[in-house]
Amino acid sequence: MVFIDLHTHSVSPTAQTFIFNYDAAVNQGFDETIQYQSVGIHPWSLSKFEISSALTRVKELASRRNVIAIGECGLDRLSQGSLGLQEKVLVEHLKIASQLGKPVIIHCVKAHNELIRIAKREKVSVPLVIHGFDGNLNIAQQLWKNGYYLSFGKALLRPHSNAANILKGWPLERMFVETDDSKLPIETLYQTAGQIVNLELNEIATIIMDNFNRVFRP
Ligand SMILES: [Zn+2]
Repeated sequence: MVFIDLHTHSVSPTAQTFIFNYDAAVNQGFDETIQYQSVGIHPWSLSKFEISSALTRVKELASRRNVIAIGECGLDRLSQGSLGLQEKVLVEHLKIASQLGKPVIIHCVKAHNELIRIAKREKVSVPLVIHGFDGNLNIAQQLWKNGYYLSFGKALLRPHSNAANILKGWPLERMFVETDDSKLPIETLYQTAGQIVNLELNEIATIIMDNFNRVFRP
């Protein structure tokens, strides 16, 4: 059984297969030996770092073979940077992803309507994955209608979290799990997700593996 960690900031994650998140504003040297990576600029980085050189780095790295996704990038209403700047940088990421045909891993906090509107306006057709999803039913329905994927993280472990409630009714062919910046073993997320949707560990692992292969074409 292969466990896939959709999004991790750790260089020694608990899954054999994982997408390491490289933040072009924060991370320095790019480690070619990491098999699967995503490259982007986190919205929190916008107020702390010089962005134009980071964007240049995203563009340089994006076409590498081991960069299988763009991001994480996105919108965060709780971040210090202005939403206007966040939108501009997000659009840059969406353009790069569209040119290369690579999916985008998105960080979105209290700005899902804006995200949906921007992605529509930019005519994005590559898969969009909202990572660390813990939004409400209304948001989930909007995302579902617009073809988004959701990646579930540690919020799943709280039995009455939005994430746990949404996963019960979310189409399984559009889900992933992730550890993000937590130290949790990825297997714990698989077990919890399996319990929520009433599937054995190997069944949920097969579903996520199929999703991974279809969306990321590794
Ligand atoms: Zn993250």
